[in-house]
Amino acid sequence: MWKLVVAALAALALVALFTPRVEAKKAALEVVVLGSGGPRPFGRAGSSYIVEVDGAPRILVDAGPGAFARIGELQLDLQKVDTVLLTHLHIDHSGDLAAFFNARALTSDGPIAYRVFGPDGAGLFPKTSRFVDLLMGSGGAFAYQKTFGANETFSVRDLAIHLDSARTKIVDEDGLQIEEIATHHDDCPSIAYRISYKGVAVVFSGDMDASALPNLVQLARDADLLIFNCAVLDPPGSPPQLYALHTPPKKIGEAARDAHVTSLLLSHLAPDVEGQKEAVRKSVRAAYAGPMAFATDRLRIPVGP
Ligand SMILES: [Zn+2]
Repeated sequence: MWKLVVAALAALALVALFTPRVEAKKAALEVVVLGSGGPRPFGRAGSSYIVEVDGAPRILVDAGPGAFARIGELQLDLQKVDTVLLTHLHIDHSGDLAAFFNARALTSDGPIAYRVFGPDGAGLFPKTSRFVDLLMGSGGAFAYQKTFGANETFSVRDLAIHLDSARTKIVDEDGLQIEEIATHHDDCPSIAYRISYKGVAVVFSGDMDASALPNLVQLARDADLLIFNCAVLDPPGSPPQLYALHTPPKKIGEAARDAHVTSLLLSHLAPDVEGQKEAVRKSVRAAYAGPMAFATDRLRIPVGP
């Protein structure tokens, strides 16, 4: 009997955490999922989120293909978006960046000053400042944008990408703090971010393999919400090479437990994961007992109590 009561209470808590709430007062931080998918097209947009601060969209986290369409569907007001956090430069996280700049410019009355953060370059991957320049700079693919919409300036900071690089605070103004730490995603430089405001915090893992878990756990400690990208099943359920790119569910659960996060949202879902949600949930549950859910496009999640 008590087990049933506990299960019912747990279900209610989950509903409270992950159901869109109609409330007069907006949460200090709210995450809007624009894209909950990865590189494979199967109905979800690629990885992308808007973070609202005091009820206003302010921060774009990744810009996967489809983000542009979701922004329109949700009728998001982009007027205050001035911060872009890129976890890495794979297409499923950055393919709609130019389309986002376009959308933002067409709803703006005046000049726009962006601050953009993303990984330093390595191998085939340009550093983020070069990436933005290749798109929007003079001589870039979309240099026309400056005269097409509002005049834009980009202040781009390339972040350290080695796992032993220190956790760094990159924004600290009016109570809004953003911190980052390097992760690891095979050969693709990759970064995790923590956004804190008015006593609540949300952490975005980006895509990362298990070798970066100590950094992620450090960054996510005591966060209210951890959004972890879940693109593989536990071994041997996914092709072996994918474990050099992604963290399996069992280890995601262990990381959420070790970081003492209040709640966990699995996102960047692959078709395999989509088809085996119960197995994935059970695997996470082996270590992590807090509220957890699977992301969907257009989901809104108030962060904190
Ligand atoms: Zn990805």
